[in-house]
This record gives sequence, structure tokens and C-alpha cells, in this order.
Amino acid sequence: MTSWIKPEQWMIDVVAEALGIDRSRVEYLASHKTIRFRVFRGILYAMLKRDLGEYYEGTVVIFGRGWSRVVPGYPHIQRVVLPSVALPRHFIDKIVVEEKLNGYNVRVVLVDNNIYAITRGGFICPYTTNRITRMLGEKLKSMFRELDPEDYFVAGEVIGLENPYTRYYYPEAPRFGYFVFDLFYRGTPMPPSKRDEVTESYGVPHVPVLGIIDKNDIEGFKEIVKRLNNDGREGVVLRDPEYRVPPLKYTTTYTNIEDIRIGMRFFMEEGRSFLFSRVIREIFRAYEEDLGPNKIEQLATEIGLAILEPAIDTVRSVARGVSVYEEFELEFSNEDELNEFIEYMSEMGIDIVVLRKTKRNGMILAKLGKMKETAIQVKKILESGLAPID
Ligand code: ATP
Ligand code: MG
Repeated sequence: MTSWIKPEQWMIDVVAEALGIDRSRVEYLASHKTIRFRVFRGILYAMLKRDLGEYYEGTVVIFGRGWSRVVPGYPHIQRVVLPSVALPRHFIDKIVVEEKLNGYNVRVVLVDNNIYAITRGGFICPYTTNRITRMLGEKLKSMFRELDPEDYFVAGEVIGLENPYTRYYYPEAPRFGYFVFDLFYRGTPMPPSKRDEVTESYGVPHVPVLGIIDKNDIEGFKEIVKRLNNDGREGVVLRDPEYRVPPLKYTTTYTNIEDIRIGMRFFMEEGRSFLFSRVIREIFRAYEEDLGPNKIEQLATEIGLAILEPAIDTVRSVARGVSVYEEFELEFSNEDELNEFIEYMSEMGIDIVVLRKTKRNGMILAKLGKMKETAIQVKKILESGLAPID
């Protein structure tokens, strides 16, 4: 069974109308798979695989009986590398400094009294939908119902270890947590103070606000970042209190280097794309903080080890015949949920193997493994002795 749908004419019409685009253009984009159609538990939806006019990649159109709903893709946030230059230039007066949590971006909507969790790319993820529904379903439902579900949706970060995508340990949400960072009204994000007021009144968690500073208070900004860095946390998102200018993001050196270490375990995959961007961030940090020779040497050692150690470990493991999966544990309420998830991942082109199943509070706790291309490539290199790239 596949959840991909070949669009019929009426579906093309609905998307054209919902997004305000010509029918023929939608038809063209659908035939090139830039717009794709899927079903999830009986709900039909269309998704954008790239930016289209004012709509970002990951935009979703949900089909109902005689109605449709657009959930716009989440916008890209520009990155700061030189705070002393970017902050005074970009902001107007004050800056709301909030924590950037390291997980994955999930938009939540209420449709027909069901919660749906949409990933950045525009997929309704069965696993995320189940966990958010179990944890926060009633709170989110009453929030949307009272606000008006047709006009509102939230975007937030899923964090913790029990998810298929990004795993960082957070003491406040060791397994699974959802923290709202934007409350959208008719496609526009509300000011952070409004977001916090509304979510708090329904008991829905939001990202921590770490302070409100003046745009010229670079010292104050650096104090906050230093504390996050010492605590091993990802970084900050900076917002205008009234959303008059778009937000910016900044990550700690701890995270820049940790990302390299995690990415280089599977160096033919994440490693490639991670490395250069993180090195750039550290180059400009070294410049901004005017690091002396000793500090630079220390940084070089740290980055060097983060690149080499995990990669060498992987080669040695493959050589010893240890299978190098990316491993993680997920919670399911029954076998059907587990099977639905495995099928979903397989449609994304990701092979999942079930390594072990145990029980936890009446739930299934499954240890799963994601097959990695790096392991296959390393095996080939070990057998041939030849480099995969020149
Ligand atoms: P981008 O969103 O800039 O296109 P990206 O997907 O590579 O890029 P990140 O570098 O992780 O993402 O930074 C942006 C993401 O940070 C957001 O999409 C969101 O998932 C996440 N995030 C975590 N905390 C916050 C927060 N407080 N406000 C906004 N986004 C946050
Ligand atoms: Mg992120």
C-alpha cells in the first residue's frame, strides 16, 4: 500500500484555488512532483516540495468535504555570525532573546477534532502526531477550539531522545517534548508575548524566553550565549517584540562542534553537509572574539578531534563487522502504530529495522535501526582499498 496519490482534476482545482495559482501551473508542478499528494488516515493533503511564490517549501493544503486549509511552510531564519554587526543593524530597539531548542520543526493543526503534526518538509508524521496527541492533545484541542481552528496553527520544536530524526538530551524533556515557538493567525506569526500568554493559559509549553535586551547590548547578548554554551545548549533565536522584522538565529560553539562530531559518525552523509557550515561559524566567532594563538590552537584540536574520532570509530566498527546503524528508541501504543511508522519511513526511502521490542507502562518501546549509506560505502572501501572521492 502506498500513501502517494495520483491527483485527479478536482484536486488540482482545489490546490489552485487554495494557493491562488493558475490551474495549468498546478498541473505542471504536480506532473513534475513539485506538488505531491498524499493521504494520512483518510485525510487527503497536498504538499509543496519547494518555495512557490509567497509559499515556502513544506506548505500543505489539507482537503476537507467542500473546504480546504492551507498550512504555510515555516520560513527560513537567517543566521548571525557576527553579533556585534548584525544585532544593531537588523533590530529596531529591543530584542526578545529566546532559546533555540535542538530538535525538529513541527507545525500542529486541528482538523475535524484531530491533531496533525506536520514536519518541515510538509509530511504529516504518524509518530509525531501520536506522541503529541498523547501528551498534549486535549490542551491543544481546547486551545484551537476556543481560538478558532481554521485561523490558527502553531509551530514548535520536538526535542528529546525518543524520535526518529534528531536526538539531544534535555533534562526538561528527556524522552519527548514539544515547545511552541510561533502561534500563527491567518498565516502571520503573533508577537512572542501574545504567544506566551495564549499558550500558557492552555498549559501548552512554549520555548523559554531568556531575556529582553537592547539591540546595542552586545555584552548582555554574549552573557546569555556564554551561559547556554556552558550548559551544552544549542543557541538563541532573536525576535523583535512586535515582529516588525524577521527573527535571526545564533548557535553556541558547543553546538557547532557537537554537530560536527555527530555528523561525522556518518561522514559520507550528514558529515559532508555539516562540516563546512560549522567551520565557517567558528571562523567568524574566532574573529569576533579576537582569539589569540593559544585559543586558536585549542579550537583547532577540538574541531579536529570532532571530525576524526567519530569517523575513525565508524571505519573500525565496520572493519570488525559491527553493523553501523543509527539507533534510536521509539514508543508506540500498539503494533499497528509501529507498522504504520515503518511503512511511512519506507515511503520516505528510509529502511528501518526493528532491533528489539520491550514493554513500558503498557506501551511498546521499540529499539530501531536506520540503515546508513556510510556503512555500505566504508565496507566497499575496506574491500577495494580505493577512495570513493578523489
Ligand atoms: P532554517 O530554519 O534557518 O531554514 P534549518 O532547518 O537548518 O534552517 P536551524 O538551523 O535548526 O534550521 O534553525 C531554524 C529552526 O530552529 C527552526 O525551523 C525551528 O525548527 C528551530 N527552533 C528551535 N527553537 C526555536 C525558536 N525559539 N524559534 C524559532 N525556531 C526555533
Ligand atoms: Mg534545528
